[in-house]
Amino acid sequence: MEILNYINGEWIKPNVKEYFDVINPATGKVITKTPLSTKADVDAAAKAASDAFQSWRRVPVNDRVQYLFKLRDLMRSNHDEIAKLITDEAGKTFEEAKAEMVRAFENIEVACGMPMMMKGDFVEDIATGIDEIMIRQPVGVCATIAPFNFPGMIPFWYLPYALAAGNTYVIKPSEKVPTTMQFIMKLIEQVGFPKGVVNLVNGAKDAVDGILEHPSIRAVTFVGSTNVAKYIYATAAAHGKRVQAQGGAKNPVIVMPDADMDMATKIIADSAFGCAGQRCLAVSFAVTVDSARNTFTEAICDAASTRTVGYGMDSGIQMGPVINAASLTRVESLIGLGVKEGATVPVDGRGTSVKGYESGNFVRPTILADVPRGSEIAKTEIFGPVLSLMHVNTVEDAIELVNSGQYGNQASLFTSSGSAARKFRSEVEAGNIGINIGVAAPMAFFPFSGWKDSFFGDMHGQGMDAVEFFTQKKVVVERWPKEWSRKF
Ligand code: NAD
Repeated sequence: MEILNYINGEWIKPNVKEYFDVINPATGKVITKTPLSTKADVDAAAKAASDAFQSWRRVPVNDRVQYLFKLRDLMRSNHDEIAKLITDEAGKTFEEAKAEMVRAFENIEVACGMPMMMKGDFVEDIATGIDEIMIRQPVGVCATIAPFNFPGMIPFWYLPYALAAGNTYVIKPSEKVPTTMQFIMKLIEQVGFPKGVVNLVNGAKDAVDGILEHPSIRAVTFVGSTNVAKYIYATAAAHGKRVQAQGGAKNPVIVMPDADMDMATKIIADSAFGCAGQRCLAVSFAVTVDSARNTFTEAICDAASTRTVGYGMDSGIQMGPVINAASLTRVESLIGLGVKEGATVPVDGRGTSVKGYESGNFVRPTILADVPRGSEIAKTEIFGPVLSLMHVNTVEDAIELVNSGQYGNQASLFTSSGSAARKFRSEVEAGNIGINIGVAAPMAFFPFSGWKDSFFGDMHGQGMDAVEFFTQKKVVVERWPKEWSRKF
C-alpha cells in the first residue's frame, strides 16, 4: 500500500526527501514507507480544513452525524481488513486488533449523540426583560498526533466528536503504523464528507511542529510518550492552542491476600502481556500484600511461561512481537538493568526466537521479582511484556508505594474486601481505576482520564470531555424592549 496524504479531498504524494520504513514487527519485512511530510504539507492540509470549516460548521448537527453513522457502518463492514492491517504493522494479535476497533466504533456511536450533547443553556429574565443564552460552537481546525500502539482506535477518541461538533480535522498517524489510517481514510472518502473536512498528513517531527505552530489549527490532541507529551503541551500552548496531551505510564496492580487468585492471575497476565505490554493501560508492576506473595508469584510465573508467542495472524497466538528492533533492544536492556539493580528473573523472555519468524522482534513474557523500591526499573516505563513484582505488608503501604510513582494513568486492585476497594478507589492517585479489573479502559461515554505525568491538560478524550474540548462557549445577553414590538 502506497502511503499518501489526503488533503482537500485528494490523494497527494508529498514532495519529500525522507521516508520512514514501515516494518512488520513479526516478519521483519518492509511493508511500505511513510513519507515524512514537511510543514508545507501541514500548511496545505490546515488551509483546506480552514476553508472547509466555514461551510461544515453550518451543516446542521443532525446532518453532520449522518456522515458518522455511515462511517461507523463502513468501518464495521471492513472490521477484519482493518484488524489485519493493525496486526501487520503494529504486531498485536488479530483478536486484539479487532477488539481495538470496537472501541473506535463505540466512540463514533457516542459522538452521534452530538445533537443532544452540544445543546446550550438559556435563562429567561436574568434581569427584567433580559435573557441569557450559552451557545456551544465549534472551535475550528483541530488536529490529532497519534502513537503507534493503537493505530485505529486512538484517532477515534477525538475525530468523531470534533466533526460532529462542526470542526474540521487534520490527522497525523505515527510514522511507524501509517497503513491503518490510510485505509480508514479511504472509507472516510467513500462516506463523502465535503472536501477539506478531514485531512491526513503522514510524517514525524516536522509534521508535528507544523501542526503545533500553524495559526489556523486551534486545538491539538496528542497521545504518546511523556517527554513528547510535555513538548506538545508546552509548544501548542505557546502558540495559543487548546491542547490535551496523554503521556506514558507505569501502571501498578495491588494483589491482596483475599483476592480470587486464579481470576487475578489470569486477568493480570492478560493486562501485562496483552499487546506485548505495549498498552498505556498495561499493568507493569504488581505489589503483593502480606501472604499474597508466594501464591501470586508462583501463579503469575506459570502464566508468563506458558503464553504462546508468535505472529498475530497465526491461530492460537496470545502475544505478538514488540514494535521494532530498537524497542526489543530497549526492553531486553531494561531487564538487564533490573538484574543489575538486584531483581531476580524467575521467567526470562530475553533472546526469544520464534520458528518461522526469526527476524521478528520477539521477547517472551518476563517476570522480574523482588524489584527494589526506588530502583530505576521500578520507575521506568518499559512498554514491553515485563511484569515487575514488589512486596509490602499492608494495603496502606501498597497505596503509599503506588502514589510515590511519577505516573497516574491507571491503578488496579484485586481483593474481595469492599472496604479495601473503597479505600483504594478514594486514595489512589490515578485517572483510571480498576477494581478486580486489569485494563480499566473507560467506555466511550466516559473520559479517558490520566493523572500526573500521564496527562497534560484538563479535558480528556471521549464522552462529554470531548464535547467540551471540541466546542467553545459563547454567552449572549439580550434585551428586546416591548416598545419595539410590532402591532399585529
Ligand atoms: P511517541 O511519543 O514516540 O510518538 C507519538 C507521536 O509523536 C508520533 O506521532 C510521533 O511521530 C510523534 N513524535 C515522536 N517524537 C517526537 C518529537 N520529538 N517531536 C514531535 N513529535 C514527535 O510515542 P509512541 O512510541 O508512538 O507510543 C508509545 C507511548 O505512548 C508510550 O509511552 C505509551 O504509554 C503512550 N501511550 C499513552 C496512552 C495514554 O492514553 N496515556 C495511550 C497510548 C500510548
